[in-house]
Amino acid sequence: MKKDNIDAIVIHCSATPEGKDVRAADIDKIHRARGFKMIGYHYVIDLDGNIEQGRPLTMNGAHCEKPGFSGRPYNSHSIGICYIGGVAKDGKTPKDTRTDAQKLALQALVANLTMQYPIREIIGHRDASPDLNGDGKISKWEWMKACPSFEVKAEFPLAICESKSSEK
Ligand SMILES: [Zn+2]
Repeated sequence: MKKDNIDAIVIHCSATPEGKDVRAADIDKIHRARGFKMIGYHYVIDLDGNIEQGRPLTMNGAHCEKPGFSGRPYNSHSIGICYIGGVAKDGKTPKDTRTDAQKLALQALVANLTMQYPIREIIGHRDASPDLNGDGKISKWEWMKACPSFEVKAEFPLAICESKSSEK
């Protein structure tokens, strides 16, 4: 991506069980096996709060191909951040498993990125689900998946995307 094109952040979870210590290198392997050039996310936040670099920001992401209010796929204009976890120990029930260290790291990373880039939208992956009933918001029943298992817009409010979606 060109620096000027970056205007959104999409937050994901790795959908790995609570407490399981997965790292960017593990995701990189899985994504390459799926045919990606390399890990699809730009950043990975480990259980201990360590922030790992995924693919460079100069590359488009491979984490969310859905278009948002801009009409362009998020992969072409957003930074993809993935925290490790997101499901309960059973490996399937969506759960906000973030450790305190991960929450702090995520806040710091988002704050840092919003200072460096003209970010207009911060969403969770599930917020990019299609608005099936056209009411301008993505409701729970419309989620294609639960990722990232917490309400990103409540934690990282950026009013602009709401105002944009009500304009149309
Ligand atoms: Zn996701």
